[in-house]
Amino acid sequence: MNEELRKAIVKHALVNAFKHDGKADAGAVLAKILGEHQELKQKAKELVPEIRAIVQELNKLPPGSQRHKLEADFPEAYAELFEKKEEVKQFPPLEGAELGKVVTRFPPEPNGFPHIGHAKAVFISYEYAKMYKGKLILRFDDTNPAAEKLEYYDAIREGLDWLGVKPDIVKNTSDDMERIYKHAKKFIEDGYLYVCLCNAETVKENRASAKECEHRNIGTEKSLISWEKMFNEYDAGAAIVRFKGYMAALNTVMRDPTMFRIVEETHPLKGAKYRVWPTYDFVAPIEDSSDGVTHAFRTKEYELRDELYYRIIDAGKLRKPRVVEFSRLSFRGTPVSKRKIKPLVEQNLVDGWSDPRLPTLIALRRRGILPGAIREFVMSLGVSKSESAPTWDLLEALNRKLIDPIAKRYFFVPDPVPLEVPDAPAFDLKMKLHPDKDLGEKAVKTANQFFIAASDANTLRVGDVFRLMELFNVKIIKKDSKLVGKFAGTEIIQSSKKIQWVTKDSLPFAVKVPGILYIDDVYNEKSMQIVNGLAEKSCKDLKIGEIIQFTRFGFCRIDEPQVAILTHK
Ligand SMILES: [Zn+2]
Repeated sequence: MNEELRKAIVKHALVNAFKHDGKADAGAVLAKILGEHQELKQKAKELVPEIRAIVQELNKLPPGSQRHKLEADFPEAYAELFEKKEEVKQFPPLEGAELGKVVTRFPPEPNGFPHIGHAKAVFISYEYAKMYKGKLILRFDDTNPAAEKLEYYDAIREGLDWLGVKPDIVKNTSDDMERIYKHAKKFIEDGYLYVCLCNAETVKENRASAKECEHRNIGTEKSLISWEKMFNEYDAGAAIVRFKGYMAALNTVMRDPTMFRIVEETHPLKGAKYRVWPTYDFVAPIEDSSDGVTHAFRTKEYELRDELYYRIIDAGKLRKPRVVEFSRLSFRGTPVSKRKIKPLVEQNLVDGWSDPRLPTLIALRRRGILPGAIREFVMSLGVSKSESAPTWDLLEALNRKLIDPIAKRYFFVPDPVPLEVPDAPAFDLKMKLHPDKDLGEKAVKTANQFFIAASDANTLRVGDVFRLMELFNVKIIKKDSKLVGKFAGTEIIQSSKKIQWVTKDSLPFAVKVPGILYIDDVYNEKSMQIVNGLAEKSCKDLKIGEIIQFTRFGFCRIDEPQVAILTHK
């Protein structure tokens, strides 16, 4: 095969994979190639195995890598994918941003699976970095070994990859511990930090009553001795390092907050190497500054911590990043924070982190939400500080626009009821898999036995004429334990009801229907429903991960053989 043809196959495979959640279809690629090269039609048979091999190879790549390859090797094809949209949304200009000099960062703690709230944070940082031709840093703020696990680092990396976000630099804060300790020592020497040996209860009481403790003014030398003892002598909980703020501050964050504590747990990357670990409050300004971050985005809940952030920068005479706040994402009825999701997983109220009721990225993916829809969704919310609590509807509407043109149509009959049409002519049909896109055909053979949905059957009365979709009209002549009808012609009658159907050779199929997890803050016991029914025979060949539409039922993603998850209507 010549190189040009090979390249064309790779291009079409990557485009197809982009549209189908990372899984290109060899048949669709072949169709594209034959469309472009009429002369290859006779050679189609020889082409098939070669195309299949290329597709198989590319399908092994994670979707993010496929996307980057497409973007790098076939920029025109990549751009075309977005041209159809009315406009590519952009965020408003960023204060103090200079072209080529913007550095943003996404600093997750690897203590859970990333969710759509993380997607919002990372897209804001990513899009601004792109807008100003700057850089995005993915920084794992991994300084609390009690909560962090290796699998969460992987989940975050995979989540970003799936979203198509490519950080310019990936790093771990735990790699910077020696430098962070140096800062701490200098801060103690300069009188900005001190080691407090009060117990947790006393620290709490003193904070509440704005009282200073004896360790605050013990002097830098004694504090430095205590600091050294934290590394090998003191037990966990016996000593903490505090920032010298102001114990009577109205902003209670400033009442000598904790900067370091002893954590004995094994760190997922560093093992038992360290036991004195900095808090987020210390790490954020130190790392942002040394990483060259110009714009540090964080959610509005941290607003009260800005004062502390800048005080630490000033105390260390460090380069000053600009902190920019945005509102946290919340969905009505769906918890969007790790604090709320983790207990659901731990108490088995959901089926793991990928339960389709959850807003985690792996759950959204499993449900059939495309990364493009998540991006559009986040962009549409903007970067304002005002609280936004959109419903699922908006995300679903954006997703529907993306999947409608690519989802093959099949018939699924929930709660099936038999229908006999003794005089029905037999048909041997090729039915289109999409009403107006060329997604191929399916073969359907009909005789005189059908199944229709109970909800449809219930509305039919003797004498009614309805249409079996894309087939023929039926007049109901008998209705008792089963329905019996009479063939009533093939001409479409505009006013008659059109319903989906399956034949006797259909297969059992279940659809999981995820619902809202909380109703008025109470866990919804019925948040996962299962609809059982029959799907047409050709559904046997559906692959896991494929997104389809069950006509008059909804869009679904195949979760396992003969089981789908309802994406949305
Ligand atoms: Zn104390």
